[in-house]
Amino acid sequence: MSAPTVLRPTYRYRLECWQDRAQRVLEIPLERRHFDRAIQATLFEGLRRGRFSTYQAPPEGIRIEPTFPGRHPSPLASGFTITVPTPDGGEHSLTFSSSYFHSKARRQLAALVVQNQLAGEGVLGYRLAAYLEEDQPRHPRLGGMLLEDDSPAIPIKDRSLRHLGTLVAWDSPVEEDLRVVIPHAVLEDAIGEARAFPEHEVGGFLLGHLCRDPETRELFLLATCHLPAEHTEATDTSVTFTPESWTRAREVIALRGEEEMFVGWVHSHPFRFCAECPMPARPECQSKILFFSSDDVFLMELTCPQPFMVGLQTAVEPRLEQALGHLPVRLYGWRQGEVTPRGFHVIPE
Ligand SMILES: [Zn+2]
Repeated sequence: MSAPTVLRPTYRYRLECWQDRAQRVLEIPLERRHFDRAIQATLFEGLRRGRFSTYQAPPEGIRIEPTFPGRHPSPLASGFTITVPTPDGGEHSLTFSSSYFHSKARRQLAALVVQNQLAGEGVLGYRLAAYLEEDQPRHPRLGGMLLEDDSPAIPIKDRSLRHLGTLVAWDSPVEEDLRVVIPHAVLEDAIGEARAFPEHEVGGFLLGHLCRDPETRELFLLATCHLPAEHTEATDTSVTFTPESWTRAREVIALRGEEEMFVGWVHSHPFRFCAECPMPARPECQSKILFFSSDDVFLMELTCPQPFMVGLQTAVEPRLEQALGHLPVRLYGWRQGEVTPRGFHVIPE
Protein backbone atom coordinates (compact mmCIF):
# COMPACT_ATOMS: atom_id res chain seq x y z
CA MET A 1 0.00 0.00 0.00
CA SER A 2 1.46 3.33 -0.92
CA ALA A 3 1.47 6.28 1.41
CA PRO A 4 -1.35 8.77 0.86
CA THR A 5 -0.35 11.79 -1.13
CA VAL A 6 -0.65 14.87 1.00
CA LEU A 7 -1.38 17.93 -1.02
CA ARG A 8 0.61 20.77 0.44
CA PRO A 9 0.39 24.37 -0.57
CA THR A 10 3.24 25.47 -2.77
CA TYR A 11 4.80 28.87 -2.51
CA ARG A 12 6.51 31.33 -4.75
CA TYR A 13 9.44 32.98 -3.04
CA ARG A 14 11.07 36.29 -3.68
CA LEU A 15 13.49 38.64 -2.04
CA GLU A 16 12.09 42.11 -1.64
CA CYS A 17 14.68 44.82 -1.27
CA TRP A 18 13.80 48.08 0.42
CA GLN A 19 15.25 51.48 0.93
CA ASP A 20 14.57 53.10 4.30
CA ARG A 21 11.95 50.42 5.00
CA ALA A 22 9.57 52.38 2.83
CA GLN A 23 10.40 52.16 -0.83
CA ARG A 24 10.66 48.84 -2.57
CA VAL A 25 13.62 49.10 -4.94
CA LEU A 26 14.05 45.57 -6.21
CA GLU A 27 12.30 42.21 -6.34
CA ILE A 28 14.34 39.10 -6.92
CA PRO A 29 12.28 36.02 -7.80
CA LEU A 30 13.75 32.91 -6.22
CA GLU A 31 13.93 29.61 -8.00
CA ARG A 32 14.56 26.09 -6.87
CA ARG A 33 18.31 26.39 -7.62
CA HIS A 34 18.60 29.22 -5.11
CA PHE A 35 17.72 26.70 -2.40
CA ASP A 36 20.20 24.05 -3.53
CA ARG A 37 22.82 24.86 -0.89
CA ALA A 38 20.16 24.57 1.80
CA ILE A 39 19.04 21.20 0.44
CA GLN A 40 22.63 19.99 0.48
CA ALA A 41 23.08 21.28 4.01
CA THR A 42 19.95 19.38 5.10
CA LEU A 43 21.13 16.15 3.48
CA PHE A 44 24.55 16.56 5.00
CA GLU A 45 23.20 17.23 8.46
CA GLY A 46 21.08 14.08 8.12
CA LEU A 47 24.17 12.18 7.07
CA ARG A 48 26.04 13.39 10.16
CA ARG A 49 23.15 12.26 12.36
CA GLY A 50 23.01 8.84 10.69
CA ARG A 51 19.61 9.42 9.03
CA PHE A 52 21.16 8.68 5.64
CA SER A 53 23.96 6.26 4.90
CA THR A 54 25.15 7.92 1.70
CA TYR A 55 25.50 11.54 0.71
CA GLN A 56 23.16 11.53 -2.25
CA ALA A 57 19.88 13.29 -2.85
CA PRO A 58 16.75 11.12 -2.79
CA PRO A 59 15.16 11.25 -6.25
CA GLU A 60 12.00 12.96 -5.09
CA GLY A 61 9.99 14.22 -2.19
CA ILE A 62 12.13 17.19 -1.14
CA ARG A 63 9.98 20.01 0.20
CA ILE A 64 10.69 23.70 0.72
CA GLU A 65 8.30 25.44 3.11
CA PRO A 66 8.36 28.96 4.49
CA THR A 67 8.47 29.65 8.21
CA PHE A 68 6.49 32.63 9.43
CA PRO A 69 7.32 34.65 12.51
CA GLY A 70 3.78 35.19 13.76
CA ARG A 71 0.37 33.61 13.50
CA HIS A 72 -1.05 36.50 11.52
CA PRO A 73 -1.27 35.85 7.82
CA SER A 74 1.54 37.70 6.09
CA PRO A 75 3.84 36.86 3.22
CA LEU A 76 6.85 37.89 5.28
CA ALA A 77 8.86 34.80 6.06
CA SER A 78 11.45 34.53 8.80
CA GLY A 79 13.06 31.73 6.83
CA PHE A 80 12.27 28.36 5.37
CA THR A 81 12.44 24.68 6.17
CA ILE A 82 13.83 21.97 3.93
CA THR A 83 12.38 18.48 4.43
CA VAL A 84 13.95 15.42 2.87
CA PRO A 85 12.50 11.87 3.00
CA THR A 86 14.75 9.33 4.71
CA PRO A 87 15.24 5.71 3.58
CA ASP A 88 13.36 4.42 6.67
CA GLY A 89 10.20 6.19 5.57
CA GLY A 90 10.68 9.17 7.86
CA GLU A 91 11.76 12.71 7.17
CA HIS A 92 14.67 14.93 8.04
CA SER A 93 14.22 18.70 8.24
CA LEU A 94 16.42 21.71 8.73
CA THR A 95 15.30 25.32 9.13
CA PHE A 96 17.16 28.27 7.63
CA SER A 97 16.96 31.96 8.45
CA SER A 98 16.17 34.49 5.73
CA SER A 99 19.77 35.69 6.16
CA TYR A 100 20.62 32.65 4.01
CA PHE A 101 19.95 35.06 1.13
CA HIS A 102 22.05 37.87 2.57
CA SER A 103 24.92 37.70 0.09
CA LYS A 104 22.55 37.36 -2.87
CA ALA A 105 20.54 40.44 -1.83
CA ARG A 106 23.70 42.34 -1.06
CA ARG A 107 25.25 41.59 -4.44
CA GLN A 108 22.17 42.63 -6.37
CA LEU A 109 21.73 45.79 -4.32
CA ALA A 110 25.40 46.63 -4.82
CA ALA A 111 24.88 46.29 -8.57
CA LEU A 112 22.02 48.83 -8.39
CA VAL A 113 24.23 51.25 -6.49
CA VAL A 114 27.04 50.85 -9.01
CA GLN A 115 24.62 51.51 -11.88
CA ASN A 116 23.41 54.63 -10.10
CA GLN A 117 19.86 53.34 -10.08
CA LEU A 118 19.12 54.22 -6.48
CA ALA A 119 18.10 57.71 -5.56
CA GLY A 120 19.26 59.00 -2.20
CA GLU A 121 21.41 57.35 0.40
CA GLY A 122 18.84 55.54 2.50
CA VAL A 123 19.54 52.35 4.37
CA LEU A 124 19.04 49.30 2.18
CA GLY A 125 17.46 46.13 3.47
CA TYR A 126 15.83 42.98 2.18
CA ARG A 127 13.27 40.46 3.31
CA LEU A 128 12.09 37.07 2.22
CA ALA A 129 8.50 36.85 1.05
CA ALA A 130 6.55 33.67 0.33
CA TYR A 131 3.30 33.86 -1.62
CA LEU A 132 0.86 31.00 -1.93
CA GLU A 133 0.84 29.71 -5.43
CA GLU A 134 -2.88 29.18 -5.93
CA ASP A 135 -3.37 29.36 -9.66
CA GLN A 136 -0.62 27.10 -10.75
CA PRO A 137 -0.67 23.35 -10.96
CA ARG A 138 0.97 21.67 -8.02
CA HIS A 139 4.26 19.98 -8.63
CA PRO A 140 4.45 16.79 -6.59
CA ARG A 141 8.00 16.40 -7.83
CA LEU A 142 10.32 19.37 -7.65
CA GLY A 143 12.77 18.82 -10.49
CA GLY A 144 16.41 19.74 -10.76
CA MET A 145 18.24 17.59 -8.27
CA LEU A 146 21.25 19.15 -6.70
CA LEU A 147 23.36 16.07 -7.32
CA GLU A 148 22.84 14.96 -10.91
CA ASP A 149 20.89 11.73 -11.12
CA ASP A 150 23.84 9.85 -12.55
CA SER A 151 26.46 11.36 -10.25
CA PRO A 152 27.86 8.91 -7.71
CA ALA A 153 27.42 9.57 -4.03
CA ILE A 154 30.31 11.50 -2.51
CA PRO A 155 32.70 8.85 -1.15
CA ILE A 156 33.15 8.53 2.59
CA LYS A 157 36.32 6.87 3.86
CA ASP A 158 36.65 4.82 7.02
CA ARG A 159 39.28 6.64 9.07
CA SER A 160 39.87 6.42 12.80
CA LEU A 161 40.18 9.77 14.58
CA ARG A 162 42.14 8.05 17.33
CA HIS A 163 44.81 7.00 14.83
CA LEU A 164 45.34 10.60 13.79
CA GLY A 165 46.97 11.22 17.16
CA THR A 166 46.33 14.05 19.57
CA LEU A 167 44.44 16.83 17.84
CA VAL A 168 44.83 20.45 18.87
CA ALA A 169 41.76 22.72 18.72
CA TRP A 170 42.28 26.10 17.04
CA ASP A 171 39.73 28.93 17.26
CA SER A 172 37.31 27.00 19.52
CA PRO A 173 35.52 24.53 17.26
CA VAL A 174 31.90 23.81 18.22
CA GLU A 175 30.09 20.50 18.04
CA GLU A 176 27.39 21.97 15.84
CA ASP A 177 29.93 22.21 12.99
CA LEU A 178 31.41 19.29 11.14
CA ARG A 179 34.83 18.53 12.57
CA VAL A 180 37.60 19.63 10.20
CA VAL A 181 41.09 18.19 10.70
CA ILE A 182 44.10 19.82 9.05
CA PRO A 183 47.72 18.70 9.45
CA HIS A 184 50.05 21.49 10.61
CA ALA A 185 52.27 20.83 7.58
CA VAL A 186 49.35 21.61 5.23
CA LEU A 187 48.81 24.96 6.96
CA GLU A 188 52.52 25.72 6.71
CA ASP A 189 52.47 24.96 2.98
CA ALA A 190 49.57 27.35 2.50
CA ILE A 191 51.29 30.12 4.45
CA GLY A 192 54.59 29.50 2.66
CA GLU A 193 52.82 30.17 -0.63
CA ALA A 194 51.32 33.43 0.71
CA ARG A 195 54.72 34.59 1.99
CA ALA A 196 56.33 33.86 -1.36
CA PHE A 197 54.01 36.46 -2.94
CA PRO A 198 53.51 39.14 -0.27
CA GLU A 199 52.37 41.78 -2.77
CA HIS A 200 49.20 40.17 -4.09
CA GLU A 201 46.62 37.53 -3.23
CA VAL A 202 47.43 33.93 -4.02
CA GLY A 203 44.92 31.14 -4.37
CA GLY A 204 45.04 27.42 -3.82
CA PHE A 205 43.04 24.31 -3.17
CA LEU A 206 42.70 21.97 -0.24
CA LEU A 207 42.47 18.30 -1.07
CA GLY A 208 41.23 15.70 1.35
CA HIS A 209 38.61 13.15 2.27
CA LEU A 210 35.24 13.03 3.90
CA CYS A 211 35.70 10.41 6.63
CA ARG A 212 33.62 8.39 9.06
CA ASP A 213 35.20 7.14 12.28
CA PRO A 214 34.34 3.42 12.40
CA GLU A 215 34.10 3.42 16.21
CA THR A 216 32.30 6.64 17.06
CA ARG A 217 30.54 6.96 13.66
CA GLU A 218 31.53 10.63 13.69
CA LEU A 219 31.69 12.20 10.25
CA PHE A 220 34.62 14.56 9.72
CA LEU A 221 36.66 16.26 7.03
CA LEU A 222 40.35 15.46 6.75
CA ALA A 223 42.49 17.80 4.66
CA THR A 224 45.54 16.06 3.22
CA CYS A 225 47.23 18.51 0.89
CA HIS A 226 47.54 22.16 -0.05
CA LEU A 227 47.79 22.69 -3.76
CA PRO A 228 48.89 26.10 -5.05
CA ALA A 229 46.52 27.10 -7.82
CA GLU A 230 48.19 27.69 -11.14
CA HIS A 231 46.89 30.02 -13.83
CA THR A 232 44.91 32.13 -11.38
CA GLU A 233 44.14 35.76 -12.05
CA ALA A 234 45.05 37.80 -9.00
CA THR A 235 44.91 41.43 -7.99
CA ASP A 236 45.99 42.74 -4.61
CA THR A 237 42.45 42.22 -3.32
CA SER A 238 41.05 39.25 -5.16
CA VAL A 239 41.89 36.00 -6.82
CA THR A 240 40.05 34.13 -9.57
CA PHE A 241 40.42 30.50 -10.50
CA THR A 242 40.46 29.87 -14.23
CA PRO A 243 39.40 26.63 -15.98
CA GLU A 244 43.14 25.89 -16.34
CA SER A 245 43.56 26.12 -12.54
CA TRP A 246 40.98 23.38 -12.10
CA THR A 247 42.35 21.21 -14.91
CA ARG A 248 45.85 21.39 -13.46
CA ALA A 249 44.55 20.54 -9.98
CA ARG A 250 42.67 17.52 -11.32
CA GLU A 251 45.87 16.31 -12.96
CA VAL A 252 47.72 16.57 -9.66
CA ILE A 253 44.94 14.66 -7.86
CA ALA A 254 45.25 11.87 -10.45
CA LEU A 255 49.06 11.84 -10.14
CA ARG A 256 48.90 11.58 -6.35
CA GLY A 257 46.60 8.56 -6.71
CA GLU A 258 45.05 8.89 -3.26
CA GLU A 259 41.49 9.44 -4.45
CA GLU A 260 41.42 12.85 -2.85
CA MET A 261 38.62 15.32 -3.49
CA PHE A 262 38.57 19.09 -3.58
CA VAL A 263 37.50 19.94 -0.06
CA GLY A 264 38.25 23.64 0.05
CA TRP A 265 39.93 26.68 -1.38
CA VAL A 266 42.72 28.83 -0.01
CA HIS A 267 43.53 32.46 -0.51
CA SER A 268 45.84 34.96 1.09
CA HIS A 269 45.20 38.47 2.33
CA PRO A 270 48.52 40.25 1.95
CA PHE A 271 47.40 43.18 4.14
CA ARG A 272 49.42 44.59 7.05
CA PHE A 273 48.74 46.16 10.40
CA CYS A 274 49.43 49.86 10.52
CA ALA A 275 52.70 50.78 12.23
CA GLU A 276 50.96 52.13 15.37
CA CYS A 277 48.88 49.01 15.99
CA PRO A 278 49.20 48.02 19.66
CA MET A 279 50.57 44.57 20.40
CA PRO A 280 48.99 42.15 20.64
CA ALA A 281 46.69 43.52 17.98
CA ARG A 282 43.06 44.19 18.93
CA PRO A 283 40.35 41.93 17.43
CA GLU A 284 39.13 44.77 15.18
CA CYS A 285 42.64 45.16 13.77
CA GLN A 286 42.87 41.41 13.20
CA SER A 287 39.57 41.58 11.34
CA LYS A 288 41.02 44.09 8.90
CA ILE A 289 43.28 41.31 7.69
CA LEU A 290 41.29 38.16 8.36
CA PHE A 291 37.79 38.58 6.96
CA PHE A 292 35.74 37.24 4.12
CA SER A 293 34.82 39.98 1.66
CA SER A 294 31.58 39.73 -0.33
CA ASP A 295 33.76 38.64 -3.27
CA ASP A 296 35.17 35.87 -1.09
CA VAL A 297 31.68 34.69 -0.12
CA PHE A 298 30.66 34.72 -3.77
CA LEU A 299 33.72 32.70 -4.77
CA MET A 300 33.01 30.23 -1.97
CA GLU A 301 29.42 29.83 -3.20
CA LEU A 302 30.68 29.20 -6.72
CA THR A 303 33.64 26.95 -6.10
CA CYS A 304 32.99 25.27 -2.75
CA PRO A 305 29.21 25.04 -2.35
CA GLN A 306 29.09 21.65 -0.60
CA PRO A 307 28.26 21.88 3.11
CA PHE A 308 31.48 20.14 4.16
CA MET A 309 33.75 22.40 2.11
CA VAL A 310 35.93 25.06 3.69
CA GLY A 311 37.78 28.24 2.81
CA LEU A 312 41.20 28.73 4.37
CA GLN A 313 42.44 32.27 4.61
CA THR A 314 46.15 32.92 5.04
CA ALA A 315 47.98 36.11 5.92
CA VAL A 316 51.54 37.42 5.83
CA GLU A 317 51.47 40.00 8.65
CA PRO A 318 54.14 38.73 11.08
CA ARG A 319 52.51 40.30 14.18
CA LEU A 320 49.26 38.45 13.53
CA GLU A 321 50.69 35.19 14.79
CA GLN A 322 51.26 36.61 18.26
CA ALA A 323 47.72 38.00 18.37
CA LEU A 324 46.09 34.74 17.28
CA GLY A 325 48.33 32.38 19.23
CA HIS A 326 48.84 30.26 16.13
CA LEU A 327 49.83 30.50 12.47
CA PRO A 328 48.20 33.44 10.66
CA VAL A 329 45.17 31.60 9.25
CA ARG A 330 41.43 31.60 9.67
CA LEU A 331 39.06 28.91 8.49
CA TYR A 332 35.60 29.56 7.03
CA GLY A 333 32.89 27.01 6.47
CA TRP A 334 29.17 26.54 5.96
CA ARG A 335 26.65 26.73 8.79
CA GLN A 336 22.95 26.51 7.87
CA GLY A 337 23.84 27.48 4.32
CA GLU A 338 25.84 30.58 5.32
CA VAL A 339 29.59 31.18 5.33
CA THR A 340 30.99 31.69 8.83
CA PRO A 341 34.43 31.69 10.45
CA ARG A 342 34.89 28.45 12.35
CA GLY A 343 37.22 26.48 14.55
CA PHE A 344 39.05 23.34 13.47
CA HIS A 345 41.50 20.69 14.67
CA VAL A 346 45.17 20.53 13.83
CA ILE A 347 47.39 17.46 13.66
CA PRO A 348 50.60 18.79 15.25
CA GLU A 349 53.93 18.59 13.45
ZN1 LIG B 1 39.63 37.67 0.42
